[in-house]
Amino acid sequence: TAAAPDLLETRDVSVSFGGFKAVDRVSLNVKEGSITGLIGPNGAGKSTLFNAIVGEQACDSGSIRFRGKEIGGLTPDGVYHHGLARTFQIPKPFAAMSVFENLMLAAPDQPGEHFWVPVVARRRIDRRESEIAERAREVLAFTTLESVAEEAAGQLSGGQQKLLELARVLMSTPKMIMLDEPAAGVNPTLTRVLIEKIEQLNADGCTFLVIEHDMDLVMRHCHTIVAMSNGRIIYEGDAAGAQSNETLLNAYLGA
Ligand code: ADP
Ligand code: MG
Repeated sequence: TAAAPDLLETRDVSVSFGGFKAVDRVSLNVKEGSITGLIGPNGAGKSTLFNAIVGEQACDSGSIRFRGKEIGGLTPDGVYHHGLARTFQIPKPFAAMSVFENLMLAAPDQPGEHFWVPVVARRRIDRRESEIAERAREVLAFTTLESVAEEAAGQLSGGQQKLLELARVLMSTPKMIMLDEPAAGVNPTLTRVLIEKIEQLNADGCTFLVIEHDMDLVMRHCHTIVAMSNGRIIYEGDAAGAQSNETLLNAYLGA
């Protein structure tokens, strides 16, 4: 709703590669509880903006606030620990490891990370490991990946790898998830599963920012739409307005 506060807020964020401005003074607001769609032609700067928000790409300037706190300049790990998670346009699982192992590795605060573990702490770590395994089984069930739990992640179909991307971020309890083209190359059946899961998580209070090319999906499932072209935001509003926006139409035709 209009009264909901902004969960994520960027102010005048710019990113350049050499002399080229991939993201040009972008001020984006994502309302708490929303599913916000980020659209725009290829090369508009959408993925670069994602990278900047999660600390994978340094910004030239600007501020990024999440839950009212400045997160610009944090490492990707730091951002993740604040409850902001993202998936990649190209899935990046540990290909040789099983789906289950990929989920175990995605859990925050891994036990046994330190090379020396006092014997007295061992029991607590074992308990923590079994909690993570239990969470992994829940996430497998939720994302309908149970049947491929023991398969090498690299052997999954493209669509299953996209689901695994979502599953990996669900190993933490993110307040907000940013998805980069979750439905691209995914068959209609798995796309339906993916949408159903996103809407279920959203109903439970998780906010989404989703880069997606399928206009039909965006129009039907996003509450707010933000469009970028040439590094700039050119539209922010509802689906109906986006469909009849001439600047937006021209950006796609010109691409
Ligand atoms: P989108 O996700 O909207 O398709 P990107 O953010 O991937 O667009 O890319 C925006 C522009 O920035 C493109 O012109 C792309 O070639 C360029 N770009 C992206 N990443 C890099 C990089 N690491 N080095 C140089 N140019 C890049
Ligand atoms: Mg992209």
